[in-house]
Amino acid sequence: MSVVRIEHVFKDYLLGDQKVQALKDITLSFEPGVFLAIAGPSGSGKTTLLNLIGCIDTPTRGRIYINEEDVSGRTPDQLADLRARTIGFIFQTFNLLPVLSAAENVEYPLLQRKDVSREERRKRVAYFLDIVGLTRYAGHRPNQLSGGQRQRVAIARALAIRPAIVLADEPTANLDHKTGEEILNLMKQINRAFNTTFIFSTHDKRVIAKADRLVRVDDGEISVLGVRAEDKWSLARQRRPARSEPAAGAA
Ligand code: ADP
Ligand code: MG
Repeated sequence: MSVVRIEHVFKDYLLGDQKVQALKDITLSFEPGVFLAIAGPSGSGKTTLLNLIGCIDTPTRGRIYINEEDVSGRTPDQLADLRARTIGFIFQTFNLLPVLSAAENVEYPLLQRKDVSREERRKRVAYFLDIVGLTRYAGHRPNQLSGGQRQRVAIARALAIRPAIVLADEPTANLDHKTGEEILNLMKQINRAFNTTFIFSTHDKRVIAKADRLVRVDDGEISVLGVRAEDKWSLARQRRPARSEPAAGAA
């Protein structure tokens, strides 16, 4: 079973009357529990890919399956419901609500979950703040926390819904290297302890080095797939047809 399966996905954006092909024929699947990096330079399509996996956006063409359920034809309401139950998000700029305390930020995504009681919310907030080491800071607002602490709050918030997948878009890009490494290590510990799937984008070599699986995107296409076993990467380069060649499968 795959936690995420992407089949022949294309994503175009319209910029004025110009079509931008952000993703071109992406096919991928990930097993539950992966700790996966999506690497690639700025503008290569990392955020677009994460937004599609996270059901924040929908593909122009192709199909996406989350826990083997096709999410392609769903309405915005259905997708919002799926996100609230299944997907935790971590962002480059933390995206905490400034007027809420750390604890309230962690609780926030649970407020729209009618199936989670107030008592259960309280337990989860305490539990996940403890996991990220911020119990003492529960009452602090984001502007009273360091960048690394803010990202820890964001991790606790992402975990609070008990998601199948955590998506992190350049989670260390606004942190210094040491703090970024701590955040990655924390994510990996959580991945190992709970078998939570983590998919994160980055263009930082040191962050890529922490991943167990690698997808490299270049100009909207997969260029390299990597799997690591016992600290050795085996990399498979995807052949990119030259412009004059017929596209794969066209002949
Ligand atoms: P990355 O996250 O790797 O920097 P993005 O997924 O943000 O890349 O962008 C991929 C390509 O799609 C870029 O050429 C970018 O300019 C374009 N793009 C992204 N979002 C939009 C949008 N909302 N409208 C038009 N073009 C976009
Ligand atoms: Mg991006």
